[in-house]
Amino acid sequence: MSAIQDRYAGAVMNTFGPPALALVRGEGAHVWDADGKEYVDLLAGIAVNALGHAHPALVEAVTTQLSTLGHVSNFFATEPQVSLAERLVALLGWGDDARVFLSNSGAEANEAALKLTRRTGRTRLVAAEGSFHGRTMGALALTSKAAYREPFEPLPGDVTFVPYDDVAALEAAVDETVAAVVLEPIQGEAGVVVPSADYLAAAQRIAHDHGALLWLDEVQTGIARTGAWFGHQLLDGVEPDVVTLAKGLGGGIPIGATVARGAAATLLQPGNHGTTFGGNPVACAAALAVLDAIVADDLLVATSARGDQLASLLAKQAGVVEVTGAGLMRGAELDGPYAPHAVVAARAAGFILNATGPTRLRFVPPLVISTEDLDALGHALPQILDDARSAAQETP
Ligand SMILES: *Cc1c(COP(=O)(O)O)cnc(C)c1O
Repeated sequence: MSAIQDRYAGAVMNTFGPPALALVRGEGAHVWDADGKEYVDLLAGIAVNALGHAHPALVEAVTTQLSTLGHVSNFFATEPQVSLAERLVALLGWGDDARVFLSNSGAEANEAALKLTRRTGRTRLVAAEGSFHGRTMGALALTSKAAYREPFEPLPGDVTFVPYDDVAALEAAVDETVAAVVLEPIQGEAGVVVPSADYLAAAQRIAHDHGALLWLDEVQTGIARTGAWFGHQLLDGVEPDVVTLAKGLGGGIPIGATVARGAAATLLQPGNHGTTFGGNPVACAAALAVLDAIVADDLLVATSARGDQLASLLAKQAGVVEVTGAGLMRGAELDGPYAPHAVVAARAAGFILNATGPTRLRFVPPLVISTEDLDALGHALPQILDDARSAAQETP
């Protein structure tokens, strides 16, 4: 244990439990801890470091913008903010009737969307079991996990949870009192759960039949993570009214975005919502650098190719019973409750992994990860999973 970890407990609020490592440096898909040990990073700051660590284009964009104009408040417009809004609308394939609200995180992007839905005049929302939308009170109200919700009830809003990927349940839940149906295109925190191919289109039809909005939370699936710019673009005919973004958007610089189109784009009017930091030029320059690098480095193609490589190496592992996901957002279901032990064993072997549950591993590496790093993972995994199985037998 490093000195940084020792000091942590005496200074940092204990909301996350003791940190597994203290990290001091990163480059590409690799990070180094305080003892100088190197790791292949298959977590990427939880699907955030799209360009990996210390990408020169991101460093350059942030440095240049910070030395030009770092922060001005939303009393004023800046070029990076406007360019980013334009780019997001264009990437969504939306038109002149779309607008963007910029904030600092996924939860904030969802808070803005939640407030937007209130301006429809309706207050009910329909969300999915297994959903994760963030930890602020509004975002938490849409998050289904009881352990996260219960200590903080009563939560705002009137939210009905329906089983994910169940069209009949949506049909039964949505009526003329519903402002929006809120869904992740692929559930991330639930362990990379992919719905049937027609689910989102059905959700859209059901929402629109009742005058409700379809709001897709693409905080984790957005910005090339699945091999498409946005997760819903992997499917035909899905055109949400509201999309929320964060995680990969800033490549590690905090930023969130709420994008709406049509009637939804004008629901929030002057005085209805605000933010001091949201849309600040440094964060927007970072996001623009991420979007540019995805194009320049052909990362949509790379993400699909590396994603296929990752999925097939996972599927070959003894003990892996199911591989889910798209692009570089993958889940691996194990044949027993030893996923947390696999995270520990992987760390010893020089790989940073993540478990979303006792039997589930999640892989969300930087989009720039190399075939060699994935090959190395493929070679190391049999031993990692063996070690994890033994460790789980000793201390279940
Ligand atoms: C991570 C996540 C959030 C919350 O984002 P924060 O930046 O942690 O507030 C919201 N929705 C989804 C789908 C996420 O994966």
